Amino acid sequence: MKIAAHTLGCKLNYAETSDLLRRLADEGNTIVDWAECSRGAEKADLYLINTCTVTAVAEKKCRNAIRQAHHQNPDAQIVVMGCFAQVAAKEIENIPGVTLVLGNDKKALLPDLIRNNFNPNTFRFPLSTFHLQYSGEDRTRTFFKIQDGCDYFCTYCAIPYARGRSRSATVEETLCAARRIAASGAKEVILTGVNTGTFGQHQGESFLDLLENLDNLEGILRYRISSIEPNLLTDEIIDFVAHSRAFLPHFHIPLQAGSDHVLQLMHRRYDTALYAAKLQKIKSVMPDACIAADVMAGFNGETEEEFRKVLSFISSLPISYLHVFTYSDRPGTAALKLGEKIPVAVRREHTARLLELSEQKHKAFIDSQIGKTKPVLWESTPHSETQSLSLSATQPLMFGWTDNYIRLSRPYSPTLVNTVEEVEIRPENIVRE
Ligand code: SF4
Repeated sequence: MKIAAHTLGCKLNYAETSDLLRRLADEGNTIVDWAECSRGAEKADLYLINTCTVTAVAEKKCRNAIRQAHHQNPDAQIVVMGCFAQVAAKEIENIPGVTLVLGNDKKALLPDLIRNNFNPNTFRFPLSTFHLQYSGEDRTRTFFKIQDGCDYFCTYCAIPYARGRSRSATVEETLCAARRIAASGAKEVILTGVNTGTFGQHQGESFLDLLENLDNLEGILRYRISSIEPNLLTDEIIDFVAHSRAFLPHFHIPLQAGSDHVLQLMHRRYDTALYAAKLQKIKSVMPDACIAADVMAGFNGETEEEFRKVLSFISSLPISYLHVFTYSDRPGTAALKLGEKIPVAVRREHTARLLELSEQKHKAFIDSQIGKTKPVLWESTPHSETQSLSLSATQPLMFGWTDNYIRLSRPYSPTLVNTVEEVEIRPENIVRE
């Protein structure tokens, strides 16, 4: 079969889709590019859509992707899986063209289900199952799923319902999978999960145990931690990263709200003081560290006065850039019963102001690094387009990330692919995306 896949949402979904596609290709299927199908250059027999339920926008994109696939090939099978499929199976089943809806409990079984004529009743897998998975289409960097699910039940979030409770493999099992990644030749591994800091908590192990073991593994040059809750980012983890062989000074720490009142309404497990202390600790031992923060705009209680606190708090912190989300009601979450709703127009306005602040902070962070020399892992794909002002439009470029997550370019050189080079950050080699 020709299979095209489309992934919405987080890095975890990307790792899962990529892992599935690798298994399906190993079984003799041909993987075709979703974008090629979209522009009519290819046609798939099976369209696979891995969905997200974090926001109403993500769900809308899922419905559009289904319609698009059905329009491209009305005879094709369409399998919809993932978080939105888990929480809205009935709705998705009724969309024309959909063959099968697989929640997070069953999606790892897709290759088996294809062999069994798409009969979902052949198998049952509870949401407590965990599969170690990793992406494989990029030779240089791999997204490695080390944890799934969440026990936190923040009031706005549907993920614990869509992905179940927190779970992971043991340190030893995770190391076995990491050895396979190392053997595949990937040099950078991004550890992903829903709530990565809870790794190992149900089997008497800890996230730090995992980090220490991974750091000793040969073959992998660099690790990034994709996201970690501030209350789980201990000073021990920060000190470990600062002195480790391979963990990079790049943190993604969800903030969600910069006002203690809103954080309480969200049932987050920290306050602004704790968040600020974590960032100060990071910068005290890794002054050039890149720190990204998720922020939600327009959650209940975010009045103009509270929002001013948010802007002022974020402005005061050494945050490098923001991932901004606009709050939308998620069915089944506790936030639906909370008061202090914010009108949708105000939520959008807060989003726009946060995006503006993010741009300013990102520019300031990148500018602060100019003149410094940092290790860059060069990627494999040559790019013909010129994104660096001083380089010739006809000269192919290659791209890579510094340890502290600044995108740089240089003239393409095949011998540098998948290697780390010390590079001075200059205005002309920065790729501002
Ligand atoms: S920590 Fe909160 S926001 Fe993150 S997945 Fe768990 S419930 Fe959702």
